[in-house]
Amino acid sequence: MSAVNGPAGGRSGGDAWASVPRAARPILRELVIHGPQSRTALAKRLVLSTGSLTRLTKPLVESGLVVEREVEHDPTHGRPTRPLEIVADTHHFLGVKLTSGALYGVRTDLRGEVVGRESVPLPDLSPDTVVEGAGWLADRLTGDGRRPVAAGVTLGGEVHGAMGDEIIDSGALGWRSVPLRRLLAERLGMPCVVKHDVTALAAAHQWFGDAREEPNFAVIALGNGIGDGIGYALFVHGSAVRSTEADLAEFAHQTLDAGGPMCPEGHRGCVAAYVAADSVRIAAAQGLGRLPGFAEVLRLARAGDPVCAEAVSEAARALGVVIANVANSGLVKTVIVAGASVDIARAARDDLERGILARRRSLGGLRLSVRPHDFGDWARGAAVEAIKAQLAGAA
Ligand SMILES: [Zn+2]
Repeated sequence: MSAVNGPAGGRSGGDAWASVPRAARPILRELVIHGPQSRTALAKRLVLSTGSLTRLTKPLVESGLVVEREVEHDPTHGRPTRPLEIVADTHHFLGVKLTSGALYGVRTDLRGEVVGRESVPLPDLSPDTVVEGAGWLADRLTGDGRRPVAAGVTLGGEVHGAMGDEIIDSGALGWRSVPLRRLLAERLGMPCVVKHDVTALAAAHQWFGDAREEPNFAVIALGNGIGDGIGYALFVHGSAVRSTEADLAEFAHQTLDAGGPMCPEGHRGCVAAYVAADSVRIAAAQGLGRLPGFAEVLRLARAGDPVCAEAVSEAARALGVVIANVANSGLVKTVIVAGASVDIARAARDDLERGILARRRSLGGLRLSVRPHDFGDWARGAAVEAIKAQLAGAA
């Protein structure tokens, strides 16, 4: 980077944001998502006159959020231009992902790059424990004294928005009408958003990951538990399709094979009964005569154990069918698969493709991204939600 007008003269933290007019926020958003650009390119993308764009970028440069790079020559017409660039590394965000056993946190810059990560186990799932755990993570991740601009926290299940205050009802957590956003904002001392975890993971891929420039895509998240472990997010025309807990349960328990294994809710051959990590373990247990760990099943399958290899193959085939169903009916070409049991897709890629081809005429045109399992990625999704809210002016 070769910034000539560095942030030295600009303001920092919340002050810089406070001075940005709402009308200028789309410019920041463009620079965050797409990187440095000339004023001409920005004006074209945002359908603004060059005069308007120049007027709106002035406070951004003065605030220190945006700098002008050194003169470059436009590759098309050769005219000199000074591209604008966001100062990503002086504005940090926190992301926290809640799981049933721990909180995972990251600190990112304004372009979603992770600059620190931390986790903390949760002795229980009461709102007080979760809020205090998030506070501990925030303190650890901001130990250098540089205060983040805002925070995002994500969890599975349903996240209601009421009067701008996310009120959480969660059967899995045993929560009823918990004003989590307010409690977190008070403890963390910064603006906070609470979002659904799979949607947040998808949002991070939309802006900075495998679905960049993709208006339509889906994320399938494979969990540990059979009952609550399968997540799904669908983005159409750049926006998340809203889903309820009931919609997600229908997704997880759709029947793939009426003669397949049974899930705890009594369905035969539903998605959860095949692809959740616990389902793979149970399938292997029937042949092994004991309940193995998920990683052990994968290891034994790799070593040639026929029982474990079959359990992994079956799960991968089922996942392939789910991927094809999603692509066919959601009309999406990009499908991202993530989560605790995602390694079935890697361990048995041929079976996965067989499953896709059982419901789709070809693999052509389908862009499949299999993400390594990492809770840091999920926490990054939470941070990206905070960045999105900040750039929309909602945080
Ligand atoms: Zn089921």
